[in-house]
Amino acid sequence: TQELHIVGGGMAGSEAAWQAANRGIQVVIHEMRPKVETFAHKTGDLGEMVCSNSFRSDDHEQNAVGLLHWEMREAGGLIIDTAHQHRLPAGGALAVDRDAFSAEITKRLHAHPNVSVSHEEVTDLPDQGHWIIATGPLTSAALGEAIQKETGTDRLAFFDAIAPIVYADSIDMSKAWLQSRYDKGETEEERRAYINCPMDRDQYEAFIDALLAADKTEFHDGETAGYFDGCLPIEVMAERGRETLRHGPMKPVGLTNPHDPETKSYAVVQLRRDNALGTLYNIVGFQTKMKYGAQTSVFKMIPGLENASFARLGGIHRNTFLNSPTLLDAQMRLRSRPNIRFAGQVTGVEGYVESAAMGLLAGRMAAAELSGAPLPTVPQDSAHGALIHHITGGAEAKTFQPMNVNFGLFRPVDGLKGGRRGRKDRYKAYTDRAKAAWSAWLAAQVEYA
Ligand code: FAD
Repeated sequence: TQELHIVGGGMAGSEAAWQAANRGIQVVIHEMRPKVETFAHKTGDLGEMVCSNSFRSDDHEQNAVGLLHWEMREAGGLIIDTAHQHRLPAGGALAVDRDAFSAEITKRLHAHPNVSVSHEEVTDLPDQGHWIIATGPLTSAALGEAIQKETGTDRLAFFDAIAPIVYADSIDMSKAWLQSRYDKGETEEERRAYINCPMDRDQYEAFIDALLAADKTEFHDGETAGYFDGCLPIEVMAERGRETLRHGPMKPVGLTNPHDPETKSYAVVQLRRDNALGTLYNIVGFQTKMKYGAQTSVFKMIPGLENASFARLGGIHRNTFLNSPTLLDAQMRLRSRPNIRFAGQVTGVEGYVESAAMGLLAGRMAAAELSGAPLPTVPQDSAHGALIHHITGGAEAKTFQPMNVNFGLFRPVDGLKGGRRGRKDRYKAYTDRAKAAWSAWLAAQVEYA
């Protein structure tokens, strides 16, 4: 029998190993810790949580993360099962005792008859055998270089620069409008790629004041070492001069406000379509280190965004990730070297839960390939399916940045009210539909077992 090699024993690698091993595959986990350290990990354990001890919301009816929890539980997920086992009281959130959690993950994987663990750094992309690379946001420098050699330097980033993402149906289009700057764009689709929010002088000045005053987070010690290449947060641009943003991402040129064509806007905030479905828009150039609470209050000062709902807020972090839409196929295989799959945060998802979920899929996909049993396509209406579809195809490749799971990635359910008012029913409809699709997908695999 052939072996499956998994590089990285974090959230994704541990889950991938568990899923493949439970399907009868011999798995070797290659984990560099504790011999080689990262700036964030503290132990040599598998499944270490590097920062917060929360897996976020466990609500599987109204929350997309909670839905991922539910799907992973149904699929016999190691990470989610162990998290429930070591749960701490935290309201609707799934918080865990982190030391007990990673100790248990380590113990269960070591005890599995089909798993062995080898503590070593992998520094090259292997030519032979079946591999899953799940080395996470802090992929070692040597392996990062090897990946860049294969993919090209512009296809593997070492920092993310996440601009906030807004649900399209929460934007007030009586103030905002659709237009590409200078009306560029060949097709109607391209001309509809941008939503514009106008500001007059007073609104702009108040916005700059709020940016300067907002609470910000700092980089961790060691986080910027050697890499940070100056993708400036908006608040830093504002610090450089009150006019900087008006001549940068907020420049008003080439745009005419159809609600008030006579008046020239003093500044314009542009939002760019973020997914093929057109349900999500990112605020162009608004990567930021502002704290989350500050971001929502500052961004709601933008005319048209007063009632905006955010699918994700902005951030800048040390984060190694691939341009997955161009590099990976629908099975998460590197197109140029199909013996190698990627999984976890390095594929451009964000968070413990999303990373574990992509590990679950990669583990099952690799196991199916090795055992010659075809795996049915992951249903796009499930949370796992929405996420993998986004990173391997649905996202805009040119501006690809890491993504959390959220309902904006789901295909709309017909016949339901949009906007805030219909939200509860809409989310319930998404989660019901997802559960049915996921259950059917799992059931279809039993036949191959
Ligand atoms: P990891 O869990 O990081 O696992 C990757 C593993 O690969 C590591 O064990 C690493 O040692 C190993 N490895 C790396 N390179 C090699 C190599 N060449 N050879 C062998 N092994 C290698 N997410 C949240 O949900 N909540 C948070 O609060 C949070 N805080 C974060 C704080 C920091 C500072 C960072 C960097 C990330 C944070 N994240 C957080 C994101 C978090 O890291 C991921 O969500 C999750 O851990 C990713 O899972 P993963 O399996 O892809 O990577």
